[in-house]
Amino acid sequence: MLGQMMTQPLLISSLIDHAERYHGETEIVSVEADGRAVTTNWAGIAANARRLGSALTKLGLDPQDRIGTLAWNNRRHLEIYYGASGAGFVCHTINPRLFPEQLVYIMNHAKDRVLFFDATFVPLVAAIREHLTETRHFVLMGPRDDDVLAQLPGVAFYDELIQTGAEDFTWPDLDENTASSLCYTSGTTGHPKGVLYSHRSTVLHSFASNTRDVIGYSAMDVVMPVVPMFHVNAWGAPYACAMSGSRMVLPGPDLHGEALVNLIDTYGVTLAMGVPTIWQGLLAHAAKSGTRLASLDRTVIGGAACPPSMMATFREDYGVDTVHAWGMSEMSPLGTTNYPLAKHMNLPPEEQHKIRESQGRPPFGVELKIVDDDGAQLPNDGQTQGDLMVRGHWVLDSYFQMQDQNILQDGWFATGDVATLDPDGYMTIRDRTKDIIKSGGEWISSVELENIAVAHPKLAAAAVIGVPHPKWDERPLLVAVRAEGESPTESELLGFFSGKIADWQVPDKVVFVDALPLNATGKVLKRTLREDFRDALTG
Ligand code: AMP
Repeated sequence: MLGQMMTQPLLISSLIDHAERYHGETEIVSVEADGRAVTTNWAGIAANARRLGSALTKLGLDPQDRIGTLAWNNRRHLEIYYGASGAGFVCHTINPRLFPEQLVYIMNHAKDRVLFFDATFVPLVAAIREHLTETRHFVLMGPRDDDVLAQLPGVAFYDELIQTGAEDFTWPDLDENTASSLCYTSGTTGHPKGVLYSHRSTVLHSFASNTRDVIGYSAMDVVMPVVPMFHVNAWGAPYACAMSGSRMVLPGPDLHGEALVNLIDTYGVTLAMGVPTIWQGLLAHAAKSGTRLASLDRTVIGGAACPPSMMATFREDYGVDTVHAWGMSEMSPLGTTNYPLAKHMNLPPEEQHKIRESQGRPPFGVELKIVDDDGAQLPNDGQTQGDLMVRGHWVLDSYFQMQDQNILQDGWFATGDVATLDPDGYMTIRDRTKDIIKSGGEWISSVELENIAVAHPKLAAAAVIGVPHPKWDERPLLVAVRAEGESPTESELLGFFSGKIADWQVPDKVVFVDALPLNATGKVLKRTLREDFRDALTG
């Protein structure tokens, strides 16, 4: 016997319909590519998304054709999220920080038929256009601009394009498993790989995001996703905020501390999300300017391990709660978020703070396990570390148009992270599988060492890598960036580890660099560091 309840497909168009119907007047502030802030609302976003969906349909594209974007976090990008996916195309967000050759590979592999881009990227598009063999329509995200037309003959303009569409366009009735959006992972080895999300996975991810212990966006919140909309859909905020009817502040191209502090203070941002490196800049400027960040209630920090010292600064200096989160492109991306359990409330504050440092626990919809090299499950004792495996409603099953893939193991996806799990499901990332340091057969977590190092007041940034060692195979090396105007010594830095970890885990040596090499998503390129410093202990 079947249940006798309505079945409605879980569609991205239903999110924007809801936001328009019940939160139409709720404001969306958008910093445009030229730095100006404009204000629209969910009704305005919805109307333009329908016009765009209609205009794209009139271009005669095939269903699920890919629509590429090279764009910052702004309102037109939000309209494309809904207009393209809602109308049955696939919104393909592209990371503009990749090398041009990688961009060309990705756009041709995805067969992007249309490419939307912000004014910032006109020179980039002009440089790679002739190599984009699949792209038929190039659209500047703005009004008509004759200078751009001179540089890119035949270019179309977003504001004119949407005028060719109908505002009363009806979203098509799609199967909820239809592909909705596409995002390529940065690709540490080989070519970048595409993760193809569906309407269903996106809506379920939004429901989960909106539960209290995940992010729990509220109609009372002013949400600023600093994490780019070209990086795993800004962690799903554009969808989940439509579901909750939150106000949004889309910060545009300038992600420096000063610009972000101004946006928080001007628009009363209550909830901001981003990677630790961004918050470093924000905290540095906040300290200089003397702001209290009075409106800010919570930051969600993920993408890389959030140093406990950063959580402490937010908490103690600004009264801001930090929610540490972990996930990946292959998981839409949310995998865990760190909120406490009721039983933790009786613990002394220091112990409560300690619990908040891990990457957190999975929501309903995600399962985690750790395994050894043979795939055997390891205990959830908070001590044993192993390869982290995941499965769930918004976890990928296979990569987009890739041959010969057999990526799941008994239905589980191997994340490439090494982690511990405790009996309550709290997960601590110890390393990337390839970054963990193996010293004399024992594992040393580079993340743990980095967390200690970055808390040193004379350092601006730090990375720890394993480098070859004649006796121990590998030993940790601290690669340090000095804070402005400081000149810490090696012994001062190494002494800082004492008492915080076992003596044998303290790095053997410190090398100073002016800046750490970062990849296109702001993660430290440890492979480059390992190559640069491979002789540090043997040479
Ligand atoms: P991406 O697919 O580019 O989002 O990268 C996902 C990877 O980033 C994960 O597999 C982790 O290695 C890393 N990562 C994400 N969040 C965290 C976190 N909170 N702590 C440590 N590593 C993280």
